[in-house]
Amino acid sequence: MLDNYNRNIHYLRISVTDRCNLRCKYCMPEDGVKLINHCDILSFEEIFEFTKIAVKYGINKVRITGGEPLVRKNIVELIRMLSQIKELQDLSLTTNGILLKEFAKPLADTGLKRVNISLDTLDENKFKQITRGGDITKVFEGIEAAKNAGLEPIKINCVIEKSHNEPDAIKVKEYCDNNGLIIRFIHRMNLKTGEFSVVEGGTGGNCNICNKLRLSSDGYLRPCLFNDIKFNVRELGAEKAIQTAIENKPKCGTHSYNNSFNIIGG
Ligand code: SAM
Ligand code: SF4
Repeated sequence: MLDNYNRNIHYLRISVTDRCNLRCKYCMPEDGVKLINHCDILSFEEIFEFTKIAVKYGINKVRITGGEPLVRKNIVELIRMLSQIKELQDLSLTTNGILLKEFAKPLADTGLKRVNISLDTLDENKFKQITRGGDITKVFEGIEAAKNAGLEPIKINCVIEKSHNEPDAIKVKEYCDNNGLIIRFIHRMNLKTGEFSVVEGGTGGNCNICNKLRLSSDGYLRPCLFNDIKFNVRELGAEKAIQTAIENKPKCGTHSYNNSFNIIGG
């Protein structure tokens, strides 16, 4: 469906949880955040029903995100359900990779097409620092498992401070080049102050060509990461929420005070 600025909105990002098994410094405070009540989290049935309606409005690409999507109980079942929607041409997932060794094969077997995996450094200690305790060997095992399961092309999300010439970024790029992975550099963003820029190697952050809607795990549809507007899917119903979100999609993002990466998934 076209929005008011002639952008074709066909990409839905679904955050399935606000929980995470890491605490990345740029995403979450050390002692976590106030968690959404379990009863407010959309059920798989609700997500499935919403997506079936969204494809009628032109959504043909879905990405599952979080928090960390692989900590959501029975996530493989959600993939199985969504993969039955034949209008979906692309079904992918963004993960920190920690649990991917275990999940890659079942996810691929039930219909997931590909994964994006986050990796900002190759250094074990630095990784531990950035993620506040994460074990980088698990991510490497996860990447290997994703390859073996055919979840390709595998994209690596690498958050950078200022430039892709930072030493960590250079090493991650080399690792990607040597292992058949596609690198995407994401400049560290700040939702509250509206600091955002285009994802290098991707399309995110470019308002002129933004084609996304985001569904949060507590059932709000958000037309823009850098704007506070959101529409309650349970209260409005999927059709009205989708129409209203598209009609109100801002021409360009500014800032958002009530949004956070761990809830909306980037
Ligand atoms: N937990 C999963 C992961 O880390 O891949 C999925 C959710 S995470 C919020 C999605 C992406 O957002 C990750 O690639 C992460 O690096 C990125 N991200 C989180 N906080 C960010 C920030 N402040 N600026 C830029 N990217 C950020
Ligand atoms: Fe968790 Fe992903 Fe946020 Fe890191 S970036 S804290 S892995 S949700």
